Amino acid sequence: MRYVSTRGAAPELGFCDVLLAGLANDGGLYMPAEWPSLPDLTHVTSYAEAAAAVMAPFVAGEIDADVFARLCSDAYATFRHDAVVPLVQIGANEWLLEQFHGPTLAFKDVALQLVGRLFDYVLAQRGQRVTIVGATSGDTGSAAIDGVKNCSNVDIVILYPHGRTSDVQRKQMTTVDSPNVHTVAVEGTFDDCQDLVKAMFNDTAFRDRMNLSAVNSINWARVMAQIVYYVTATRSLGATATNQTTFSVPTGNFGNVLSGWISRTMGAPIANFIVASNSNDILTRFINDNDMTARDVVPTLSPSMDIQVSSNFERLLFEMNGRDGGMTAEQLQRFRHSGSLTVEPDQMATWISPAFRAAKVDDAGIVDEIRRVYESSGQFIDPHTATGTAAVRSLGAHLDGHAVVTLATAHPAKFPDAVYAATGVRPSLPPHLADLLDRPERTNLVANDLAAVQTFVERAVAR
Ligand SMILES: *Cc1c(COP(=O)(O)O)cnc(C)c1O
Repeated sequence: MRYVSTRGAAPELGFCDVLLAGLANDGGLYMPAEWPSLPDLTHVTSYAEAAAAVMAPFVAGEIDADVFARLCSDAYATFRHDAVVPLVQIGANEWLLEQFHGPTLAFKDVALQLVGRLFDYVLAQRGQRVTIVGATSGDTGSAAIDGVKNCSNVDIVILYPHGRTSDVQRKQMTTVDSPNVHTVAVEGTFDDCQDLVKAMFNDTAFRDRMNLSAVNSINWARVMAQIVYYVTATRSLGATATNQTTFSVPTGNFGNVLSGWISRTMGAPIANFIVASNSNDILTRFINDNDMTARDVVPTLSPSMDIQVSSNFERLLFEMNGRDGGMTAEQLQRFRHSGSLTVEPDQMATWISPAFRAAKVDDAGIVDEIRRVYESSGQFIDPHTATGTAAVRSLGAHLDGHAVVTLATAHPAKFPDAVYAATGVRPSLPPHLADLLDRPERTNLVANDLAAVQTFVERAVAR
């Protein structure tokens, strides 16, 4: 399998180069040159086996099938449920797909547990070492750290804003006791942390000396790993071409729902997707009104969806443009200048209307929905998941007569305050994290200053 850039001006690469590069050198995102079909999964007996089979065409010719099967099996052994991503029924035709049984209790573990292992394997093959740097306001940092904490060829440095993360989120990063994991509390905001990371990448000499790398949500390997659970969920539900499933996806960067769309393109029996937004509703406005106008980000109860520009949308746009990279690059440039993007009515009719519906859920709606689901099914859901189940109701999708699955993207105990406000009950952390808040922390307070942070990175990685 070869990979092409969504902006059409970067070299075609194979899977391993795409994995390590992240972004293409024309600023675009890598996409497989063609979509394979789903394999026959009749004899598959575990999630890890299904994962290896579904993803096989994407790594073919680059990673040996036995090695890839072992990496999948190791990655999904870290999940605390035998089904890895289990279905739970919450209504007559409604289900949750629980994606939070991994080490850090959020859906990003599904991809990052595999991506960390892929990095380590490919780097060992090539005799290379990288330093992953990233900024986090919460979920991504801990999932990335956990994904690479046992890697021999990766150091990771995660910047977070000092005093501005929740206790659970910070402790999930700072209590990991591995020599290759370094956390930095920056005396500044999340935006300051992001600016520092960008500045480190823009300092070419530093970037090359430290072999900087990233595992952000535009990395193709993350999108690829997320295709699998759409396939296993439709199989478990017995979905067929005449009895298809709808998925409701709490959406931020458009990564999770894009993976679903790819599974549908590969042949999974999926009727359509509900894109659930919080008050940051740029995607809902686009899908319902062909209006993609960027506004300021407002903080909500579902912080991992507080995003203004959904970076993975570029991949769908590339498809909508008939895979014309030049046209996609031009459109994105106009978007950057004007802050607004519309597409042709026939593109909406061909690509968007048949596959996507969308709804926005504000904070009051989130709290009401957590209460409603608890009262009607006894299940606790987190504020991100609540946007998904509330969107199902506001669109009436639970009355469609086929299964509707909402992706439960985070464990309710990660957001205990919102759950308490809605239900009067504070959900507890699962047993393996019950003592999290008492574990010793290792972190480093560093000034909001590029030179200071670079000095820290150089010393940390030299060890
Ligand atoms: C990252 C995240 C999302 C959003 O997923 P995207 O792939 O960015 O659309 C939703 N919920 C939770 C809990 C997350 O961590």
